[in-house]
Amino acid sequence: MADPDPDARPQVAIGFVVDAAENSEIQRRLQWLQEVIRQDLEKDFPEFSWNFRLILRRDFPGDRPLDPLVLLEFGSELKIEYRLDFLLVLTSMPLMARFDQTVNGVPSNMLETGVVSMARPLENLEPERVDRAILALCRHILGHLWGLDHDEDSVMRPREFWNGDEPLDWSPEEKRQIRHYLRDIADPRLEETTQAASTAWRFYALLLRREGLSLARDIVLFRSWRMMLHLGRFTAATAVSIIFLFLSAEAWELGAAIRSSWLDLILVAVLFMATLSIYFGQNLQEVGRADRMMEQAARSRIVLFGTLLVGMASFWINLFLISLGIIAILPEQVLAGWAGLGGQPLPMVHFSKLMATFGILASSLGGNLEEEHDLKAVLIYTEET
Ligand SMILES: [Zn+2]
Repeated sequence: MADPDPDARPQVAIGFVVDAAENSEIQRRLQWLQEVIRQDLEKDFPEFSWNFRLILRRDFPGDRPLDPLVLLEFGSELKIEYRLDFLLVLTSMPLMARFDQTVNGVPSNMLETGVVSMARPLENLEPERVDRAILALCRHILGHLWGLDHDEDSVMRPREFWNGDEPLDWSPEEKRQIRHYLRDIADPRLEETTQAASTAWRFYALLLRREGLSLARDIVLFRSWRMMLHLGRFTAATAVSIIFLFLSAEAWELGAAIRSSWLDLILVAVLFMATLSIYFGQNLQEVGRADRMMEQAARSRIVLFGTLLVGMASFWINLFLISLGIIAILPEQVLAGWAGLGGQPLPMVHFSKLMATFGILASSLGGNLEEEHDLKAVLIYTEET
């Protein structure tokens, strides 16, 4: 770190990781790609100093088909090891699709890492279009890593096939957003500042104080409600248990016996327990494990946990609304009878809360039944494209 840098501009370091076994034509293509991207970024964002690195690895994951999740974790560790800000893992091999039909690339905003497969452009396009297709795909993925959303009129347009068609660039508005995003990133990382903490607890506290707002933004922007749609077993376990609860008189009796204020406390405790049980049950604490005291690694872990917690909370709200609907439909006398309420009116909100809370308990079990990698992928992928 001693090397004195005359360039005072904030640095952004980007790595391209490639399997050392890729043939020389692919390596040449990537060299070209990296050069073009670097030149464009220097032109568009001259206020930053752009450092690029092509990294050939002999320990590139070898299981076929390549699992983007494995590549993302592989990449995120290298990113920390090489002290890069962003990293793309590139391959000429096809990727395993998890949620879509096919997949050409997977960005992970959380890990600041993306995966790009050149397999389909290489297979389907005339040679002169291949480079443009891959360039557009890389820009799209980098755009996601830099916090951009989809947009029909720029390279951020979601596409089924990457064939090199226009638009190939970001819009002026998107470039403004990227500039803003990168200015945050180019700040010195917490472990590089003088206030670097001596214990993990202090480190996390410092990080939360410095970055709390941007962490919260990442968590909220990260559409965690998607979780429900993708996780079959998770939703099924919840649905089945709620149906049984609705049909059992004991649940209603229990509900009548619990005071409302207690139920709120129980709800908060259940949400935290369910989140913790999935977090540790699915080994999510291993994400970004490369170093405990690195800002990026700690950040990933906080965002991961927060996303899961927000996901569970939004799942609870859905269950609550569904329960409220079911209770409104069912005959009130029967339910009041089960609850042993005599002639009193049924407190609908109270019982809906109870059912939704039981549902979350069941879903934490269901979440742990889920294939480990699917749940992780839902949390870590920004998208499959
Ligand atoms: Zn996209």
